[in-house]
Amino acid sequence: MTTIFEKIIAGEIPGDIVYRDELVTAFRDIQPLAPTHVLIVPNKPIPTVNDLTDADEALAGRMLHVAARIAAQEGIAEDGYRLIINCNRNGGQEVYHLHMHLLGGRRMGRMVMPPQ
Ligand code: AMP
Repeated sequence: MTTIFEKIIAGEIPGDIVYRDELVTAFRDIQPLAPTHVLIVPNKPIPTVNDLTDADEALAGRMLHVAARIAAQEGIAEDGYRLIINCNRNGGQEVYHLHMHLLGGRRMGRMVMPPQ
């Protein structure tokens, strides 16, 4: 099933794209949780981090490297930021096209909520 992220990457629906190369695309989250909230996604549809293969190691590395470059562009590298990849139900994943959240521009607080 085609996800909304595939449609943004293909240009079928609008996205606030901040970076694109042959492996990844990055665009601003539509419901930002911080002054900077960018999603870094593979151009090809990989549903979750569980679905990465040996052949995707360069892609996985690129996602991390691009996140750091965007953080620098956004002026948040020195103060710091948080990178998050949610996986499946317990991870809170909502869109089944692998993506890394880049969050910054404010103090991010505790890493995870304590058990309710
Ligand atoms: P996750 O819970 O990790 O799957 O995160 C999915 C993220 O995608 C959420 O932060 C949403 O706000 C974001 N999102 C959903 N639809 C769009 C869209 N059309 N453009 C940008 N971000 C989106």
